[in-house]
Order: sequence, then C-alpha cells, then structure tokens
Amino acid sequence: MIQITQVTDVVRKYTDEIGEEDVGKKIRLCGWVHEVRDHGGLVFVILRDREGFIQVTLPKKKVKPEVFKRAKKVHRESVVEVIGTVKAEPKAPGGYEVIPEEFKVLNEADAPLPLDVAEKVPAELDTRLDHRFLDLRKPRVQAIFRIRHCMLQSVRNFLCEEGFIEVNTPKIVSTATEGGTELFPISYFEKEAFLNQSPQLYKQVLMGAGLERVFEIGPIFRAEEHNTVRHLNEAISIDIEASFVDHEGVMRVLEKLVSRVYEDVCEKCEKYLNWLDVKLDVPEVPFERISYDEAIEIASKKGESIPWGEDISTTALKLIAEELPEHYFIVDWPTKSKPFYAMPYEDKPEVCKSFDLMCGYLELASGAQRIHFYDKLVERIRECGMSPESFGFYLEAFKYGMPPHSGWGLGADRLLMSILKLKNIREGVLFPRDRNRLIP
Ligand code: ATP
Ligand code: MG
Repeated sequence: MIQITQVTDVVRKYTDEIGEEDVGKKIRLCGWVHEVRDHGGLVFVILRDREGFIQVTLPKKKVKPEVFKRAKKVHRESVVEVIGTVKAEPKAPGGYEVIPEEFKVLNEADAPLPLDVAEKVPAELDTRLDHRFLDLRKPRVQAIFRIRHCMLQSVRNFLCEEGFIEVNTPKIVSTATEGGTELFPISYFEKEAFLNQSPQLYKQVLMGAGLERVFEIGPIFRAEEHNTVRHLNEAISIDIEASFVDHEGVMRVLEKLVSRVYEDVCEKCEKYLNWLDVKLDVPEVPFERISYDEAIEIASKKGESIPWGEDISTTALKLIAEELPEHYFIVDWPTKSKPFYAMPYEDKPEVCKSFDLMCGYLELASGAQRIHFYDKLVERIRECGMSPESFGFYLEAFKYGMPPHSGWGLGADRLLMSILKLKNIREGVLFPRDRNRLIP
C-alpha cells in the first residue's frame, strides 16, 4: 500500500497557488489524474485539484524510470501525489509545468469511468446525478457549489449584521403549517408525525418569546407531486421573522439581502464565475413593486386571464416576466390566495399585506405581515377549513403578549438558480430529492 508523504519541508500547493516565485523550487501536489497524454518518450499528466489544473511533464530521459512507468499507465481519475520542480512553460495551461521526482498513485481508479469527468462525452442530467461524486469533480460543477457556499455565507453575514439571531427549529413536527396536504408523514414511535414544510409556526412562536429578529437556514419538505425544473421535495429555505416591523420593512431587508449576495459573489467568486462563464450585474434596490391586480392585468392583456383571488399560473408569470425580466415584488395578494396567517388590510380585508419576490417568472420568496391577534387568527384558521385545536402550542403564544411581526421565506436553491441562471434547480443541489430521485 502506498502511503501519503509525511509532512515534510516540501509544501503542498494548490494548482492555482503556483507562480513566478515557485520556479526552480520543489513543491508537492495532491489531486486527481484529469488526463494522460502519452507521446511515447514524453508523457503529460494533467493533474486536477479543487482549484484547477497543472501539467506534470515527464520526459523519459529526465525522470526516474519507475516514475515514468507509473505515470504512463495510471488510469484517469486516480488519486495521485506529485513532488517535483516547477518550470515556467508558456505552452502549458496556466503557464507552468512540474517535472516530478516522485509520482505516487495513492489510489488507482477503475476503468472505464461511469461518467467522463473531462466532459469529452456529454451526459444527461440524470446520469450525472446518478454518479454525482464524479460529476462534482468537473470544475464547472464544483464552481456552482463554491458560489453556493459564498451565497450562504453572505446571507448569514448580512442577517447577523442586521440584528437577526440564527435559530434551529424542529423538522419533525405534529402539525401541518398551512393545511393537511403536501406533507410527508413519518412514523414517530407510536405516533404519526410529519416532516416540516416550513419553520413558519416556530418562527412566529419565537416572536412571542421576545427574540424579535430571528433567521433560520434549513430544509423544508414538500410532498409535491409535480416534477418541474424549479421544485424539489426537499429544499433549503432562508427564513426570517421580525417583530415591530410591517411587510414593507421585511421587504426592504429582503431586497437589500439579495443585492448584497450579488455583491459578495461578484467580489469573492470571480474565478468560479469565469469557470461558469457567467457575468453578474448587481441588482439595484429598491426593486419594483407591482400589485397582484396589476400583475393579473398584464397577464390578461397578453391573453391569460386569472380569476381574481386565484394564484397566478406559471403561464401568466411567464407573460408578466416578459415585461419584468429581473427582480420585482408582487404585493397585496387576495387574502384567500395566501396562508391563514397573512394579515388582511383593515380597510380592505379581502386583500392582505403579503408579497412574493420574483426574478422573471421564478418565485424566489413569499412573505407577509402576520396576524398577531389571537381571535383573528382562530377565525382565519376556521375560515381556511382547519381546526384551531391542532394548533395548540402555536395559538398559545398569541394569548400572552405577541408583538406585531412580519417575515418571509426565501428558497436558497431558487436564489442560486436565479443568480447563475441555471436551467434546472437540481444543478445547484448536491443530492436533489424529487419525485423520482431518492438515491444518491
Ligand atoms: P411555488 O408557488 O413556486 O411552488 P410556494 O409559494 O409554494 O412556491 P412558499 O410556501 O411560498 O412556496 O415557500 C417560500 C419559498 O420557498 C418559495 O418562494 C421558494 O423559493 C421556496 N420553495 C418552496 N417550495 C419549494 C420547492 N418545492 N422546491 C424548491 N423551493 C421551494
Ligand atoms: Mg409562495
């Protein structure tokens, strides 16, 4: 068994760290064999690590015979460790090459590969997801997840700066958030339980607990039957709830957050954006706000009429997106089209203080000012055909000093999809869960 080199005076470098100062010096590289080009007496091994590629050049006459032999017959995607001297080589990708004195095959990969990491043979998304660990080795795929990391870090930083406290609420629950459908039942000892579809009820209880501003980044589970490019059965939601703020207040937090994420990704992920060939423009705030009535009017002029009170169909949203291709809010939705906890306008109770954040036709977030009066909430739960008894722990929090509050839920996977203009939400999720996919 070949052992990894002990920590020595030879420093390990990532491929993107090699520069002018390394020329003539000995370095250590660790990674995968991306490609082997065998020209008989001259072999090139393209080594790939997390940060890029480097050419390892093996002229038969200049390297040890066993090193030459090993490199010549190594399989693609094997894990290797190379210790060698850096040379400037304008013809090599990146401008440098390494002449090895050591070439260790730490773990040989089987051949043939189930998926071509070098992307010379294209693969369908399904095949790629079946062999996701190999798919993720592709720099363009890895770039998506480096940007996702940056996006989530940016969200955390921003919300912390805005005074939000990060919380974690249970994902195994006994009550539905918004009614009985779309839930995954699970068996919980002798009881029936569900996977939570949203942290909504808990976030609100935390307003009753006096935390004032909370956020959670966590999974939501939706047993939706449909199979679309923007729905998953397990998604990551960025949720906030804030006390003493109305819907407009949390919309401002939301638009500032989105623009900040673009700024951070532009600033910190230039390299990965280049790998993906994506150019970003930081969206300007405030985002345009159109009312639900205006939205359905646009759709109706283009031939898709939505009966007042109904949710806006995908067809209609696509028509509206022709006029509004970037970020905008749809505000003031019919009360009956939104969940029971959305606050109706005092003077116009058929409309509520709610909003959706859109990017073109894609819904990124939904939010509202919430009802904070116990009696009103019970009434709305009944009107929506549900039983207040099943909301016991939630309703109790409204009896003993619940402040006015508002909040939203922003789909992290949707946000990434919109930033990188991914054609399918699954591209930005490591191991997506959908109607047909439970493995890996
Ligand atoms: P849609 O109408 O697009 O199905 P929704 O209105 O049912 O979404 P909400 O309950 O408002 O979704 O959830 C808040 C946010 O969480 C959504 O705006 C979206 O970004 C994200 N989200 C909700 N459901 C899913 C899902 N199945 N897959 C991915 N993201 C989701
Ligand atoms: Mg919604």
